[in-house]
Amino acid sequence: MRRRIAVVGGGPAGLTFARVLHRHDHPVTVLERDAAPDARPPGGTLDLHERMGQVALDKAGLLAEFQALSRPEGQAMRILDVDGTVLRDWRPRPGDRANPEIDRGHLRDLLLGPLDVQWGRQVTRVDPGTRDGVLVHFSDRRQETFDLVVGADGAWSRVRPALSTATPHYTGVTLVETSLTDVDTRHPHLAALIGDGSVAVYGVNRGLVAQRNSGGHVKVYAQFRAPLDRPTTLTDAEPSDAGTLRSQVLALFDGWAAPLLDLLRHGTAFVRRPLHVLPVSHTWAHIPGVTLLGDAAHLMPPLGVGANLAMLEGAELAESVAACGPDDLDEAVRAFEEQMWARAGIWATITAAGLDRLVSPDPAAALALFDEVQPG
Ligand SMILES: Cc1cc2nc3c(=O)[nH]c(=O)nc-3n(C[C@H](O)[C@H](O)[C@H](O)COP(=O)(O)OP(=O)(O)OC[C@H]3O[C@@H](n4cnc5c(N)ncnc54)[C@H](O)[C@@H]3O)c2cc1C
Repeated sequence: MRRRIAVVGGGPAGLTFARVLHRHDHPVTVLERDAAPDARPPGGTLDLHERMGQVALDKAGLLAEFQALSRPEGQAMRILDVDGTVLRDWRPRPGDRANPEIDRGHLRDLLLGPLDVQWGRQVTRVDPGTRDGVLVHFSDRRQETFDLVVGADGAWSRVRPALSTATPHYTGVTLVETSLTDVDTRHPHLAALIGDGSVAVYGVNRGLVAQRNSGGHVKVYAQFRAPLDRPTTLTDAEPSDAGTLRSQVLALFDGWAAPLLDLLRHGTAFVRRPLHVLPVSHTWAHIPGVTLLGDAAHLMPPLGVGANLAMLEGAELAESVAACGPDDLDEAVRAFEEQMWARAGIWATITAAGLDRLVSPDPAAALALFDEVQPG
């Protein structure tokens, strides 16, 4: 008899898990809180690494389609100082496909493909170990039972409390995100500054990053150390009054070169994202029938690996589940968890140290970090 498997969350982790199971003709129920794929803006661009996100897409049979959609030129990266002087200017070599960029919306649509996602299904709680399996509770008071429930529901997971008492804590760093549209025609001086990929500037305890997405769209992230001025419980992203937040952020970057400030001046909607993380090396005592993937398992600073890990884990767990016999499901999940914890612990340590260096009193520490990871 086929196992009843549900994944909670249709982000990179949940969709990759479901898509790889689908490739193995294994049924899976995808439960997503959003009412529709385009219910909210999909967010910025992601670079998918050759040894992580791209491996996952290969396991899903989607690597060729990814290569057609992605932007290898988006790997270009420039670092400036606060006066606007170029300190580093990396460009990908022809044929370099180590970390091509893809818009989140394009990745979501690629993964969705033929999947039959149940939209508008917000999970509130799961109870493992009932007589008939794992009981899933929904916000509309309905309930359903499964043999395996995979929590891929992100930072503020509603599945996680069934396994662990850990909750995300604030890192001390806040991002304010804004967007530029039609940058090539409306702001050509900023298009030239950003180039084909990203531009990053690091000052004392703050940084500014602008990343080109497709279609002349740019995401700008201002990052700085700040106290958490209001308690965050269920969401990390709060849309804010554009005028007020723009002035507040511009004041923080006072004295920086005018074109850098233009990245903020011309921004449209502003969103405040206090960065939260789970404890490094977050693990739990294994419980049959429930597990976690991606940010739900190991939320870490956004330094370019979260979605990659989430997808790789989704693909690996799906392959294990598809390959195991009817009585081996629990052992397959347990082995997967051990492997996920070991790898995620290493990345959580690296990214926590990375955030401290990127938003630090010494801008030279940020530059040195890039010199360590970029080829000369
Ligand atoms: C500004 C920024 C830039 C980043 N850049 C990169 C990058 O370049 N590369 C990279 O690898 N990573 C990056 N990350 C990290 C990356 O976004 C995350 O690690 C990744 O999205 C995690 O995927 P996930 O599927 O685990 O969770 P999520 O993407 O958070 O998806 C969770 C899904 O679950 C749904 N959900 C939530 N609660 C419920 C519920 N109760 N019931 C049902 N559904 C629910 C949500 O609606 C969502 O669809 C960045 C993060 C930020 C904030």
